[in-house]
Amino acid sequence: MFDTTPIVGIDEALRADAATDDDGVARADQARAHESAAEMLADRGEWRRAYQHLRAAMALVHLGDTPPVHVPEQLRREVDRLRRERAEAREQSRRDSLTATWNRRYLDERLSTLRDDGRRPVCVALADVDHFKQVNDSYGHAVGDSVLRTLVGLMRSEIDDRVPDGFCARYGGEEFALVLPGSPDADAVALCEGIRARVEDHDWSAVAPELRVTLSLGLGCVDPSCQRSDSAGLLDHVDELLYVAKRTGRNAVAYRDGTGEVRLAGQAAARRGIAAVARAVAGSGRPGRSDP
Ligand code: GH3
Ligand code: MG
Ligand code: MG
Repeated sequence: MFDTTPIVGIDEALRADAATDDDGVARADQARAHESAAEMLADRGEWRRAYQHLRAAMALVHLGDTPPVHVPEQLRREVDRLRRERAEAREQSRRDSLTATWNRRYLDERLSTLRDDGRRPVCVALADVDHFKQVNDSYGHAVGDSVLRTLVGLMRSEIDDRVPDGFCARYGGEEFALVLPGSPDADAVALCEGIRARVEDHDWSAVAPELRVTLSLGLGCVDPSCQRSDSAGLLDHVDELLYVAKRTGRNAVAYRDGTGEVRLAGQAAARRGIAAVARAVAGSGRPGRSDP
């Protein structure tokens, strides 16, 4: 097993160097300062700068009589190990602990990156489990948790098949954001409708007998050049559409067609009162969704 002490290994070389003369002592001090800086930077994940300091430390060591032999390799492996650990910790901090899908922090970062990139529109859906409180009340919280995990699996497999760089993130509670970069509007509507149908048709009996689960979704195409910086701002209008899906009977996908008219996808398109609900919801801010 490789020695996991901090980035050391040049100590021996420095001691030998310092033993030679005063210049050697000064070089050893400088090299140690570079080594400390490298450790600190590596710990903060600033790998490029850490390498620069390591290179400076090694250059000072090589000025002395000490042969370089195995030391550079040891340092490289140590920095690689720290980099791996750092990447793992970073990934963990962006995962939801219950479902293992991405969390809100990751969502905010990716939306911000997609907005800064600005090259292509991004379709974003918010999906909310219908009457999830009743699932918890009827079957217990553990079953509710299991529903959320299964749901993520269903949504992810649909997205992975059709939008390679799309992803699903837990937005909060029983609500998920589905991000579909570059997906044309019509494809995004079809994908969301496919997810809705797949959840409705899924055999949930393995989770709990006679359990039924449905989803409501709001879908919008976000202009990535929009200046608002937080994902909550970007998602406001998508949230309104989700509310329309809830208020018009749930288990539906609400979106705006090419003319800006609010529609429901699939069979739900025939429901009554969609336009009236959309007018009532428009601009009313993030509404509560506890209506029956
Ligand atoms: P609606 O169709 O309007 O969305 O109704 P709803 O019951 O789904 O919505 P409501 O906001 O009334 O309830 C959401 C419930 O989700 C309440 C909360 O306890 C539950 N919930 C949130 N997070 C979790 C979780 O991690 N695990 C479980 N089991 N339940 C959760
Ligand atoms: Mg809900
Ligand atoms: Mg909710």
